[in-house]
Order: sequence, then structure tokens, then C-alpha cells
Amino acid sequence: MQPCRKTCSIYMALFALVRRTKCPHAGLIHCRDNAWVSGMADLTFDQLFVVLSATRPSFAEAEQMRQWLAGIDQGAQCLALIEETARGRPCPRCGCGRVHRCGQASGLQRFRCLGCRRSYNALTGTPLARLRKREHWLAYFQCALDSLVVRAAAAKIGVHRTTSFRWRHRFIPAAARNRPTVLGDIVEADETYLLESQKGSRQMTRPARRRGGVSHQRGINGEYDCLLVARDRGGRTLAFHTGRGPVTAALLGACLSPVLLPGAVLYSDGAAAYQRFASLHGITHAWVNVRAGEHARGNIHIQNVNAWHARLKGWLAHFRGVASRYLAHYANWYRLLDERHLGTPTALLVAAARRY
Ligand SMILES: [Zn+2]
Repeated sequence: MQPCRKTCSIYMALFALVRRTKCPHAGLIHCRDNAWVSGMADLTFDQLFVVLSATRPSFAEAEQMRQWLAGIDQGAQCLALIEETARGRPCPRCGCGRVHRCGQASGLQRFRCLGCRRSYNALTGTPLARLRKREHWLAYFQCALDSLVVRAAAAKIGVHRTTSFRWRHRFIPAAARNRPTVLGDIVEADETYLLESQKGSRQMTRPARRRGGVSHQRGINGEYDCLLVARDRGGRTLAFHTGRGPVTAALLGACLSPVLLPGAVLYSDGAAAYQRFASLHGITHAWVNVRAGEHARGNIHIQNVNAWHARLKGWLAHFRGVASRYLAHYANWYRLLDERHLGTPTALLVAAARRY
């Protein structure tokens, strides 16, 4: 076979390497040291470097190469973080600690459980299991920290918008499992209401509203989603999507009683549901009569939680409406941003890959 006398440009060299096609001229590549190879896969790194340094990449080509190298680096970093997070973890199915190594798959170590004989890896049993393109995960978590909308994140990372959407609703709830299990001694609780939304739904249960629309009835009714927020004076916050319509004592009991410490004091507005919930569960309760214009009575107020509501709604505005079924995801996403203790992509990834 006669060698090809042309030299691949940097772009074609990278394209050939990534797509695993052959040299566009003759399937052969000419290197300066006069070594002829039958395809990019046979190139050593030194030979590849010679090919690359023989060309003068444009700014766009250099940027493309930078992104490609960053992807390689981030993929390895992501895998290392996932493996480190799961180190020493027992079998996710039976809890057996007797395991042995069983090869690798998609860059992650596989283990074979000696109890149930099933195999697993560091992500089995977490919301991140079976998701692909791990080289982009850290960059995607940065998009989450930047509050990018689905399409902007997809364009920035270079994945399809469907992937971007799927990742959002897997990554955010996964990281949001990192939440306070109990709140402090003084807890403010209040609910905020958002008009229900069937954004993205293929089978709507009502005619579409135009330009956002309004409720057909006055006051809080079944057309509104209720988001209950409890925040202690240390800034720890929990948000619960309780469903449609006004909050009830039973819903407050289901959401708040597991997170209130014995002896904790609950502050709220004067809604009867809070008084009933507090008396049923023996919780010390004080309220401000917001309807009568009372905003604070000494230390008793719900201004921290109301300020949180206002910040959340301001942040939600740039998504131009969120579907009711994802409201809890968005509330938790905002909670993570507002708390700031998971303020880096690596911290978010570790929180999401952990088993709780
Ligand atoms: Zn097992």
C-alpha cells in the first residue's frame, strides 16, 4: 500500500481520533519521524503530538481542543469522586459487607456480593445509576449552580436538551437528599401558593391558559399548589410540596412533626391549621396576626420564611413557570443555592452520589 503524502490538519487528526475513522486521504498518516501508521489508533502519544504541533490551530480549534481535554480530565475526576464516595460501602441490596472485585464497567469498579451473588458498582441504588456521559457531570453541576435553564445548559455542555432535562431532574433531587433532618429551637413556618402548572404535559386535564392566566376562583383554592416552608433562626430550611389547596393540620403534622425537636417553638401566622397542629402534637406555638397588619411582636415573626418565599419566587421567574410535578425539585434546588454549603460542582456530585 502506498503511503499518503498529505498531512492531516489538527482538526482532521482529532476528528479521526474521536470518531475512530481513518485518515481522510488514504487511511495512513505521515509523521515527521518517517514512521507510517495505518490509522490514528496506532499512533503513539509522541507521534500524535508531532502531528498536532505541525499545525497552527485557530482560536476556535484551540478552544475545541481545550474543551475536549477538560472533558477527559473531568471524566476521570468525576469517576474518582464517585469511587471515593462509595469506598467501603456494603452491598446496596442485602447490606452484606463480604464482596469481591468483579472487573470494571464504564470506568467504575464492579463488585460481586457474596451474600446475594449480585453485582453492583458505586452508583447502584443512587439516583445517578445508569446515567451516561460522566465526563460532563461536573460541568452540568456548575450549570445547576449557575441556575441555567435546560436549553442553555444543554448548549453549554454539548448534550441534547432531553439529556439536560433528565439530568436536572435526577441530579437536583439526588443532591437535595442532603437536607437537615431536624430544625433548631425556633422554627418559622409559612406556606406560599403558586398557580398549578401542567407545563410540558402531553395530556392536560384542562384547557391551556393564555399568558400565564389566573385562577377562576378567588382566594386559595384547588388551583393552587401549596409549598410549605419551615426555616429555623440558624437559616436551615426545609420545603414541602403538600399538594393543592390550603394546608391542613394533618399535612402540617406529616411534614413538620418529624423535623421539630422536642421543646422547639413554632412561629406562624394565625391560620387555624397551625393552632390545631400545635395543640394536637403538644408543640409550643406563637403566631402573629398578619391579617390584622401585625408583622412582628418582639421576637415572634415569620419574616425570615417570608423573605425566603420572596427570593424563591424571584428566582423561579426566570424559568417562566415550572410544572407542578417538579415544584419540589425547584424548591430544593433553590434551597441548595440559598444554603451555599454545597457551593461547588464536586460538593454537589458527592452529595448526589452518596447513599442516604
Ligand atoms: Zn448483596
